[in-house]
Amino acid sequence: MLAEKLLLHVFVILVPILVYTSFFENRRIGRSPYFLGMMYGLSAILCLAVSYYSYGLYWDLRYVPLVLSFLYGGPIAGGITFLSIIGARTLMNGDALLFGYISIALAASVPFFYVKRFWRQQTKKRIITAIWLGIWPSFIMLSILISWRYFSENPIHNLSELLLYILLFGVIQIVAIGFASMLHEAVIERRMMNKEMQRAEKLNTLGELAASIAHEVRNPLTVVKGFLQLMKSQEKQNGDNYQYLGLVLSELARAEAIINDYLNFAKPQFEKIERLDLSTTIFDVVSLMHPLAIKQGVELDSDLKNEVYLHTDRNQFKQALVNVIKNAIEATDHGGRVKVSLVAAGQNVRIIVKDNGKGMTKEQLSRIGTLFYTTKDKGTGLGTLVSLRIIEAMEGKIIYKSEPGKGTEVSITLPLVRQLNDGKSCTG
Ligand code: ADP
Ligand code: MG
Repeated sequence: MLAEKLLLHVFVILVPILVYTSFFENRRIGRSPYFLGMMYGLSAILCLAVSYYSYGLYWDLRYVPLVLSFLYGGPIAGGITFLSIIGARTLMNGDALLFGYISIALAASVPFFYVKRFWRQQTKKRIITAIWLGIWPSFIMLSILISWRYFSENPIHNLSELLLYILLFGVIQIVAIGFASMLHEAVIERRMMNKEMQRAEKLNTLGELAASIAHEVRNPLTVVKGFLQLMKSQEKQNGDNYQYLGLVLSELARAEAIINDYLNFAKPQFEKIERLDLSTTIFDVVSLMHPLAIKQGVELDSDLKNEVYLHTDRNQFKQALVNVIKNAIEATDHGGRVKVSLVAAGQNVRIIVKDNGKGMTKEQLSRIGTLFYTTKDKGTGLGTLVSLRIIEAMEGKIIYKSEPGKGTEVSITLPLVRQLNDGKSCTG
């Protein structure tokens, strides 16, 4: 039966990937295109060997390993599979050998030229593309062959059975490619996650090291500063050294500020916790950002009617907000609009910064907040990360929603400590 044979094919096609994921994924050989090519070549030969002959046609899924090897293994793996099919087909001989060659070459050329674009797509789209690329050549071949038989001396009698065959063939093929490419994608994702984890671990260690060095440098700096101040106070006001000492001290202050900023980034420190009136604080930040907005030709609005109080460090909170609003303004073109609003939401308070700027793609959205990720020429890729750290330390959350070309909405949710709505104070 066709169905049984084709299901056998599905198994034959999945075997190389299963073997690969279970035994070779983390070994060096698993990454070799020669190895993948050989596995897929083998499964293509097996497909040919167990193909089902009916209506004068060989029904098999040999294009599936061919397409998959090109897409996931590159030209070398694809080439090996291609040659294996050609070899096996030549040995099988039979009529229409030339036709077989042409169809294999046609089936191989599409993924060969498409592979670059394939890798620019996202996971889900890649699976769909793989299905299309695998199913097209076989359907074209099928239709050519069937029409050829239709006009030849022995026309097809049982059309409904043939249609059923084609339907079955299509469904099983989709299942086979779909499964195979899903397995491949899982391997790829796992590998990427591993890499990212190693990278993050390394950065984390580096960050901690740098932070402890910065901390160690700050102490002698403080001592040096103290003695220099002492020397300056003992120096005559009109002496040469007096001026030099002033210069040295101001440079020292700068070095100290840089170190403090860095330490702040590495670990936000909440020095002075105070009761903040959020609407006033946000209004201050918005006023601070106005000059930048004007320079950029962006309208910066705020809607801060709610009266909400929060216990936190004023400067840290302002810093977090400045970074988000600055990004919103920078992402917006001349004539655009950025709006900052404050909404009380039950036990939480939400600050929403909405712009109608250039927005972000899904890929960009997933990278935002990773260290040094920036799309700007003079960007640092630190702003969002600092905001995230600060809001995290305040036990809040930042959620980015964005659509390319339409704009971005950043919502910062913070747990509320106390709220004053009716003029009476309440604790809680
Ligand atoms: P920088 O501003 O130095 O580039 P950030 O960490 O502040 O670093 O931002 C990282 C990146 O995130 C930006 O380069 C930009 O591409 C993107 N981004 C952040 N906010 C927005 C926004 N509101 N609209 C569009 N893109 C944004
Ligand atoms: Mg920024």
